[in-house]
Amino acid sequence: MDHVDLAIIGSGSGNSLVTPDFADAQVAVIEQGVFGGTCLNVGCIPTKMYVHTADLAVAARDSARFGVDSRVDAVRWRDIRDRIFGRIDPISRGGRDYRLTGPGTTAYLGHARFTGDRTLDIALNDGGRAQVRAEQVVIATGARPVIPDVISASGVPFHTSDDVMRMDELPASMVILGGGYIAAEFAHIFSALGVAVTLVVRGPRLLRRQDFDISAAFTERALAQWDVRLGRGVVSAGTTEDGIRLGLDDGTAASADVLLVATGRRPNTDDLGLEAAKVACHEDGRVVVDAHGRTTAPGVWALGDASSPYQLKHVANHEARVVAHNLAHPKDLRSFDHAFVPAAVFSRPQIATVGATQQQLEAEGRRFAVKLQKYGDTAFGWALEDEYGVCKVLADPATGLLLGVHLMGEFASTVIQPAIQAMSFRQRADEVARGQYWIHPALSEVLENALLGVELDPPGA
Ligand code: FAD
Repeated sequence: MDHVDLAIIGSGSGNSLVTPDFADAQVAVIEQGVFGGTCLNVGCIPTKMYVHTADLAVAARDSARFGVDSRVDAVRWRDIRDRIFGRIDPISRGGRDYRLTGPGTTAYLGHARFTGDRTLDIALNDGGRAQVRAEQVVIATGARPVIPDVISASGVPFHTSDDVMRMDELPASMVILGGGYIAAEFAHIFSALGVAVTLVVRGPRLLRRQDFDISAAFTERALAQWDVRLGRGVVSAGTTEDGIRLGLDDGTAASADVLLVATGRRPNTDDLGLEAAKVACHEDGRVVVDAHGRTTAPGVWALGDASSPYQLKHVANHEARVVAHNLAHPKDLRSFDHAFVPAAVFSRPQIATVGATQQQLEAEGRRFAVKLQKYGDTAFGWALEDEYGVCKVLADPATGLLLGVHLMGEFASTVIQPAIQAMSFRQRADEVARGQYWIHPALSEVLENALLGVELDPPGA
């Protein structure tokens, strides 16, 4: 049995817990898969490297509208793939090697399970076993793709976000199962690279958790770009001579060379022996944590996708910073701040969001003022020849505070940032709009005009 001060299960955001506070401590970092976790290896970073590449292809095809004739002559898939992972894989390997040979930490490459209070059994990838007892343990095990039974039971070959970016060949066609952000991002990536994309979506719209104006507008754009089957369930899955075929509940079928399943992600907490450690979970598998990241078991903490409903890297990073402090300063605990968590969908068009949706405000019976500002009614929107971009601002008419901001359009994930800042620092919509210069004619004027357009109660009302 190895004794350590801190054991971290998962090398994604968990790896950043090893701060200078632990310089003199013995730390175990346990990783069963590729070092560095989802974001680096199979999530945010490679997808966005593909998204930029896809955007270039779209721009080339679209440029004739602007009087510049160009076209996409070829897409060198393997070159794209090898460029992207040629950058990522060495970072992952370097992180693993540093933990294997660096000072103060011991890396255990294998699958960890609790066998008791703060005691772990590790099935090492090389076939060996290790036991670790720790003063404190952090569960940072992330999440993995959910595969619907109809797919897994059928034996039909399929990809998930874990492997689709590393395919050897770019297929001619792809069915994507799912209507969330991962499905929307891959639909953009693959269609831009020349793949005929069919989306099979259970609900009536894509990105259903977005504000309904944004979700409806995005669904319209999706229908214009891809073969989208809305409101369809999969009743059968099989292979054909050319690839795969999904039977749908309206009697139709969706066929393609390959299938990508993007139907959500579940926390990696079901094979962790959490009962042995008396760590409680929510029904959906997330570890129960308090505002400081403490689980129901003393000395055991959790963060990121293993416990968070957000499943976002910037949330996991924030929680890791809080937990890192709390591990070293038990008498001065910090809390997670989930007040205004933004998110973006890097599809075509791009989407960014922070705060409440209109449907949430309506359900709560809250009073709100709303302004929809079209990209196309601003100077940079003219430069873009933009036809669809929109910025929606929801504010409390009495206090002037922003309640929610939602964008669909070019660079939405960047344009939204002043709104995130305003909400985080509790600034009024009119104060943000008029209390600073906005660069003319930058795209940020879309947000400026939306803020100016919200009708607040007159002073003293
Ligand atoms: P992870 O990074 O998943 O780390 C968990 C690690 O624990 C993994 O390496 C796993 O192998 C290991 N592990 C699990 N169980 C065990 C065990 N029992 N023993 C040992 N090791 C174990 N978020 C954004 O904010 N922006 C984006 O643009 C974005 N894009 C995404 C695109 C895709 C395709 C995907 C899949 C995700 C994306 N995300 C994005 C989500 C983001 O990647 C995750 O929220 C984030 O990486 C979670 O970090 P984590 O540290 O909680 O878990």
